[in-house]
Parts: sequence; structure tokens; C-alpha cells
Amino acid sequence: MASRAFATLLAVLAVVGFASVPRGLATDPTQLQDFCVADNNHPVLVNGVVCKNPNVVNANDFFFHIVPVAPNAQGSAVTPVAVAQIPGLNTLGISLARIDFVPGGQNPPHTHPRGSEILTVIQGTLLVGFVTSNQLLNNTLFTKQLHAGDVFVFPQGLIHFQLNNGRTPAVAIAALSSQNPGTITIANAVFGAKPPILDVILARAFMLDRATVDRLQQAFGGAAPVAVGGGYPGYPGRN
Ligand code: MN
Repeated sequence: MASRAFATLLAVLAVVGFASVPRGLATDPTQLQDFCVADNNHPVLVNGVVCKNPNVVNANDFFFHIVPVAPNAQGSAVTPVAVAQIPGLNTLGISLARIDFVPGGQNPPHTHPRGSEILTVIQGTLLVGFVTSNQLLNNTLFTKQLHAGDVFVFPQGLIHFQLNNGRTPAVAIAALSSQNPGTITIANAVFGAKPPILDVILARAFMLDRATVDRLQQAFGGAAPVAVGGGYPGYPGRN
């Protein structure tokens, strides 16, 4: 009958549609056992870390005590608590960081390639923001003034920052959706790359003159490339 054939067709379409939905929606793969405590000294490298024998796992494999470090030149101190600090986080897909800010201090623009971040302000005030990609809303800034108790989300991979624009120290806890979210600090990665990215590339990319780029490269610890006679390939005479 036509109606039965139609019902069968609908069922087939439903199965095909379901099968095409991506299974891996989480950032990190889901675990296949209660835990897989990282053996951080194991010579075998896998995507994640090899499991320790569960018979020798103890509570300390799931424990870490945060001791905030001194603020950096930006006036902030990030203490990561990821799989390198807590081996028990291996395969669990989560981690966190404590961020301390002096008044006026900032956590400069950076991105986490493998995790979204949800940040809670514990103390003080923070001006935070993230920028969308070129494709979505064409580099729109989403920014918000936060106070103690406020929570803000930075979607995975997007460039974001936090500034303590208050007169007292600020503290925040950031939870991340990866055991190893990674951090790319934009200025350090671009101007502090070792060996350095050719200054002519950065000068054009950032619409700066080469002397300014060289100064930035020295400030970020990537020595400026030494100009040689004949210039760079593709840039004859510009040395
Ligand atoms: Mn972050």
C-alpha cells in the first residue's frame, strides 16, 4: 500500500538522518572507563596520555593545591590546573585555571584551541570580552563589565581577554572544556615566534613599519631578523 511505502520511506530517512549527525560533539573524546589517570612519564605518546595501572592510583592523582604565582608583566598570574597538574583529569575533558590580577592588570588577548571557557569572578571587577571569527558577524566584540559572582563564557577558539579595571586585586576561576585546552597568547605567538616571522610579513599584516615590528619582536623575545644584502625573497631591495 502507498501509505505503508511512505511510512517505510520516512523510517529510512529518519535512520539516515540520525546516522549523519556527528557523534563527537564534546571537545575531548569521552572516556571508556571510570578513569584513566595519566602516566605523565610514559614514553608512549597517544592523543591524551597513557593510563597508569588503576591498582596504583590514589586520591592524590585527583588532587592539586593552587599556589598563585607572581604577576607577569601584564599584571596577571594564570595558574593552570590541567592534566599536567592533575593526572586524574586525563580523558575527562575538563580543567580549570585561577587568574589573579593586580589593579590595572590584564590577561591579554589569547585563545584556547581545544576548549570553551566559563569564568567566575571571585573577587574584584573585570572587564572581559571576546571577538567572533571573520565568518560569523565579522569580528564583532562581545564585552561586559563583571563583578564578584558574575559568570561569563568565552566560546572555544575565540580570542578573548580580561582586564582588572578596579582599584583592588581581582581573582577569577576559569573552567575549560578540555583536559588540555592549550593557550595561544596572540602577541607572544605572533611577535615572539622563534625563529621570528619575517618582519616584512608582520609589517604588512599589522600595517606597521618594519622598525616598529622589529622593536615588538625584540620586546616579545623573538629577535628581529637580520637584514641581509639583497633583501628578503619576494621583497627585492627592501632590506
Ligand atoms: Mn582564557
